[in-house]
Amino acid sequence: MHLRKRVLVTGGAGFLGSHLCEQLLVEGHDVICLDNYFTGTKDNVSHLMDKHNFELLRHDITFPLYVEVDEIYNLACPASPVHYQHDPVQTTKTSVHGSINMLGLAKRVKARIMQASTSEVYGDPAVHPQTEDYWGHVNPIGVRSCYDEGKRCAETLFFDYHRQHKLRIKVARIFNTYGPRMHPNDGRVVSNFIVQALKGESITIYGDGMQTRSFCYVDDMIHGFMRLMKSPDDFTGPVNLGNPNEFTIKELAERVIEMIGSRSKLVFKPLPSDDPRQRQPDSSLAKEVLGWTPRIQLAEGLKDTIRYFEALLSR
Ligand code: NAD
Ligand code: UDP
Repeated sequence: MHLRKRVLVTGGAGFLGSHLCEQLLVEGHDVICLDNYFTGTKDNVSHLMDKHNFELLRHDITFPLYVEVDEIYNLACPASPVHYQHDPVQTTKTSVHGSINMLGLAKRVKARIMQASTSEVYGDPAVHPQTEDYWGHVNPIGVRSCYDEGKRCAETLFFDYHRQHKLRIKVARIFNTYGPRMHPNDGRVVSNFIVQALKGESITIYGDGMQTRSFCYVDDMIHGFMRLMKSPDDFTGPVNLGNPNEFTIKELAERVIEMIGSRSKLVFKPLPSDDPRQRQPDSSLAKEVLGWTPRIQLAEGLKDTIRYFEALLSR
C-alpha cells in the first residue's frame, strides 16, 4: 500500500535537498521545502514550483518552526568548507539550535526525523575504512570544528531525544557526494575541478593531492536517505552512506581533465588546516540493514555532472 506523507525537507533548496524533494514528489508525497538560501537557490527547485504537492518556505532553522508533518529530513547546513567557515558561529548554531528546533517539532507532531550527519564526525581518521563504531579524531578548536563538532553535537541531540523522548530518529553519516546542482562556486572539489577544467583554468590541488576521498553520486545518496527513512523504527543508525571507491585528489583531477579533454594544468596550493588525509566508508551496515549499495561509479557520475556544468556555463 502506498501512503502519502507530509514531508519537511530542511535545506531543500540546496544540492542534496533539491534532489530529495524531487524524488519525494515522484513517490507522491506532500513536500515542504524549507531554506534560508544561504547556499541554496530557488533555481534548484524552480522546476517543482508548479506541482500542487510542493511548497517552498523561507525560514532559518535556528528559529522555531510550527508545521504539521509526518517526516522530517534535516539537511539544512552549509556543507562546503568555504561556506561553513564564512560564518562559523552561524554554522554551529544551524547544527545545534537548528537540530533542537527540528527535534522539538518532531516531538510535538510525532514525526520521524533523519539527520544529515557527515563523515566529518570521524575527523582525520585513524581507522580506515571508517566504521560506524569508530569515535573519530576531531580537532575541537580548528577551522573545521564549527562544522565537525556542530554535526557531532547534533548526533548527540538526536540520540538524547531518542532515549529521553522516544523519538523515531535516523542518523545518516554522508560521505562526499557530488552531482548536478552543486553550486559552481560551491568550493568543493568535484565542482571546482569540473568548472576549472571547462574554463581551461588551472586545477587547484590543495597539498600534494595524495589525500583521498570516496565519491558518491547524488542519485545513489537520495535512494539511501529514502531507504533509511523507511527502515524499521528500531534502526536509528548512525549508518554510513557513501561509495567505497577511494581516489586520491590528484587522480580525480586527472580524470576530470581527461574526460573534458581540457588543457588545464595542475597547480598545487597549500593544504587547508585539518584537511583529512584519507576517507573511505565501510558501507556494510547500509548494505545489511537497508539493502543499499551505491550503483553509479565515478566515470558515469562525472559524465552527468560535467554535462550539467557545461550547460550552466554556456547560459
Ligand atoms: P548545500 O549547501 O547545497 O545545502 C545546504 C542547504 O541548507 C542550502 O540550501 C542552505 O541554503 C540551507 N541552509 C543552511 N543553513 C540554513 C539554516 N540555518 N536554515 C535553513 N536553511 C539553511 O549542501 P548539500 O551538499 O546539499 O548538503 C546537505 C546536507 O548534507 C548538509 O547538512 C550537509 O552537511 C550534509 N552533507 C553533505 C555532504 C556532501 O558531500 N554533499 C557530505 C556530508 C554531509
Ligand atoms: N580540494 C582541492 N582543490 C579544490 C577543492 C578541494 O584539492 O579546489 C581538496 C581538499 O583539500 C580536500 C578534498 O579536495 O582534501 C575534498 O575537499 P572538499 O572541500 O570537496 O570536501 P571535504 O574536505 O569536506 O571532504
